[in-house]
Amino acid sequence: MIELQIYSTVPEEIRLVERYWAMNAEGKFPEPVADLLPFHNIVNSTQLAAFVRNISQAWDLNQTCPQCGGYEQVRSRSEAKKSPGEMRVPCTTCREVADEEKREADARTKAALEQRLALAIESAAARTIDYSDLSDDVVLILMALERAINPRLTTGTFMRGDCRALAPCYVGDFITRLYKARAIVDMPGKARPGTYYVRDDQLWHTTEHAVYRLTPDSTLGSGEEAFEIINSRTLQDNRAVRNLWFDYAATDCMAYLFEQCHQHGLRTTDEDDVQMHSTLRAALQTYSVSHLWSAIWKVVKDAATLSTRSYYTSDTAAATLPGKLRRLLEKVTSGEATLRKWSRPEHQPAGTLGHLFNELYGIDEDTPGTAVMSSFADQEDASPRLATAELAELVRNILKSALAHDLAAEVMLYFADAIRRGLDDAGAINELLGAFPEIDGSASA
Ligand SMILES: [Zn+2]
Repeated sequence: MIELQIYSTVPEEIRLVERYWAMNAEGKFPEPVADLLPFHNIVNSTQLAAFVRNISQAWDLNQTCPQCGGYEQVRSRSEAKKSPGEMRVPCTTCREVADEEKREADARTKAALEQRLALAIESAAARTIDYSDLSDDVVLILMALERAINPRLTTGTFMRGDCRALAPCYVGDFITRLYKARAIVDMPGKARPGTYYVRDDQLWHTTEHAVYRLTPDSTLGSGEEAFEIINSRTLQDNRAVRNLWFDYAATDCMAYLFEQCHQHGLRTTDEDDVQMHSTLRAALQTYSVSHLWSAIWKVVKDAATLSTRSYYTSDTAAATLPGKLRRLLEKVTSGEATLRKWSRPEHQPAGTLGHLFNELYGIDEDTPGTAVMSSFADQEDASPRLATAELAELVRNILKSALAHDLAAEVMLYFADAIRRGLDDAGAINELLGAFPEIDGSASA
């Protein structure tokens, strides 16, 4: 059935609308439209339907809206349904309301984005830092970046994709470190539309499309002259420098791992990559990058062999890599296996960060991790206090005596506890001798 609202008061027109929409029990319109024509100067069905629409509205009682429960408005006979039922989508009115709400929400989002972008552009332009506050690792990354994208770091802007020469892989991690240290700043006004968006009332951006520049120094600005402050900085934080080397060296290992896996059609998961990265980074404290390349070569070769066996796919074979790598390194530690020294893979040039380490400290892929550890020892460990001959003699006797009485652990724990309670060396030893009458500090064997 069709429900009508007729806005004309002309009986002839009212009659026309009623005849146009007259539906029988089968849901059909028995009177052909052609029988209603011509009507005044209207000669075809399209014109007639338009005229009927103009002076009336019609709702199809056979179409119920799933959202508002109302009936669907119909504009011509072809839109009417023969039998009653619920529509699959909300009615035209509901859809129009939703569309309007979406248009308004989009407009609000756009306005909010523009407002936030304006603020962000302003704050990015005004951002300065004090170059002397930058940590040593950040200074080194900046120096290496300057070489990687010369001359843009001091004269212009850059994107992450421009910085590939910095390290063999995971370049984004180094850029993120600069960003978090505020050494570089993103320039919302220079990024292509769509890079920035508002979510949860915050301004976000996709790092891939962000445009960065070096944050200017608060007094010297950001030109070459200012950058000299960074270049001529005396680096003193051994721990920061050492850790940056291990971070860099790990990218040199991971790039080789990725390349080897690619050659053998092995795909590793992100979680496995994280595991192997952490294994390799820890191993770098002992071995050189070139020794670890040979370890990587071996485990990838083994996994590739495995992938050809039945019950294995290339994915399940690749999943054995973290375990294989760990076990191989354990065998090397226990002396059951040895690592050979690989030369730098042809298609894997060192990054500018690697070159910088080589230039400043003479370390590269062939430098053993142990050498790096001792060259960049923690400053507090650099000059251990030397025991006097007298103290050395006393301690030696105490330890001997403690071992002889099978009290070594008790004595060590007691000493540690005394130090923790705030006693100095001599005080702790005196108390210890009092607490363990059987220990003789003067005895010599
Ligand atoms: Zn509705």
